[in-house]
Amino acid sequence: MSASLATVSYIGATILFILSLGGLSNQESSRRGNLFGMIGMAIAVLATVFGPKVGASGYAWIVGAMVVGGAVGLYAARTVQMTQMPELVALMHSMVGLAAMLVGFATFIDPEAAKEFTGAAKSIHEMEIYIGILIGAMTFSGSIIAFGKLSGRIGGNPMLLPGRHFMNLAGLLVVIYFGGVFMESHSIAEAMTPVVVMTVVALLFGIHMVMAIGGADMPVVVSMLNSYSGWAAAATGFMLSNDLLIVVGALVGSSGAILSYIMCNAMNRSFISVIAGGFGTTSAKPKAAGGAAQPAGEVVAINATETAELLLDAKSVIIVPGYGMAVAQAQHTVFEITKVLRDKGVNVRFGIHPVAGRMPGHMNVLLAEAKVPYDIVFEMDELNDDFPATDVAIVIGANDIVNPAAQDDPTSPIAGMPVLEVWKAKTSIVMKRSMASGYAGVDNPLFYKENNRMLFGDAKKMLDEVLTVLRA
Ligand code: NDP
Repeated sequence: MSASLATVSYIGATILFILSLGGLSNQESSRRGNLFGMIGMAIAVLATVFGPKVGASGYAWIVGAMVVGGAVGLYAARTVQMTQMPELVALMHSMVGLAAMLVGFATFIDPEAAKEFTGAAKSIHEMEIYIGILIGAMTFSGSIIAFGKLSGRIGGNPMLLPGRHFMNLAGLLVVIYFGGVFMESHSIAEAMTPVVVMTVVALLFGIHMVMAIGGADMPVVVSMLNSYSGWAAAATGFMLSNDLLIVVGALVGSSGAILSYIMCNAMNRSFISVIAGGFGTTSAKPKAAGGAAQPAGEVVAINATETAELLLDAKSVIIVPGYGMAVAQAQHTVFEITKVLRDKGVNVRFGIHPVAGRMPGHMNVLLAEAKVPYDIVFEMDELNDDFPATDVAIVIGANDIVNPAAQDDPTSPIAGMPVLEVWKAKTSIVMKRSMASGYAGVDNPLFYKENNRMLFGDAKKMLDEVLTVLRA
């Protein structure tokens, strides 16, 4: 393929990626957005493999890598449970970081690559390598820790080392100092020490940054690492002088940054505080996620028949899904119940909290999979004022996102996070298996409210029972 054809293909792929991102911003157009992305990626891979920079001798390596990578990806995609999706995404971010780091080292030790540049261009190229390895290493280790936290292998509590902000500052100064040493080095051997020191500091910083973030603030970290992985890809693009990789990396990096900002707004968190770590955790230590919450009053338990009766008596119902719906895979039964109620003239709507589940858009994906119509799915802000006029609010496997302590208890680790005000409905029903706390590890006063009922059990099993009664 000639260089000009490769360039045209790259421009075409870039346009498709932009259209893809545009499509993904709306539920109705998201399938089309995905399709654009897939076509764009196919064009990008073909134009790179058959482009002028890869000789015939490279094909065997590329095909070998694609077969191995493709097989691992296919296996992961086919076997991963829906509930493991967030961890898989975190793991994939770590791969982008690792790739940036390795490409950085490979470019750094390649004597031929160094000869291509002289004067100012050489300095810029060296800076690209240094920054590329830095971002890559931070993304790699941070994403591995995020993977550990999301999969429950590492506890959700923040690790707050004494003087952690000074440690971060010291790390930054070390990185800047060794950056100077690196730029002034005259040989690869001489430059090796500063690069290795910087890599170790960056790896430690990535670990420290994510370890210091408390459970409830993890959504911001996930979207932030998404952004970092984009910048790591852009850095790789600079090192390899690949324009498409720079553009795509910048698209992912900036859209991830915008998403982080949106998530911070949704959680009423300051971006800087979250990154600095340990935000909202100094006054009250959260209990271990999933641990039993301390009893703080009486709870009223009901069964599936009583739940069905409450639903049948209602004129308006709001369903609030959370992580437990994903665990139970209850979305299809939820939709069946919705259809039965709508046929009986009940106004049924879904209320989606921005951080429900374990990844941005988690609930929307599940509801779309169950084919719930988009026009009855609402964002938190769109229907939070409607709860007082709602007969039944039914909470399916959600906990932190409906916790009134976020509004009432300034010492709570989730204080200030906007929540769905289900307790303002005439009756709220919480469906979960036990009194255990959610991801943030805090007790939920909702369970003890007078107008709240608890339907204990696996969400899928209980909803199946409710559906049977409704149909009868
Ligand atoms: P939570 O983790 O707060 O609560 C989920 C509840 O579901 C649990 O209390 C659990 O209770 C219940 N549950 C689990 N399995 C089942 C089941 N099979 N059937 C019925 N219930 C079940 O989830 P939310 O969605 O309310 O809140 C999300 C939390 O995750 C927030 O703290 C958010 O900050 C955090 N987070 C979100 C991310 C995102 O991007 N969206 C990323 C990382 C973290 P029980 O065990 O008693 O059944």
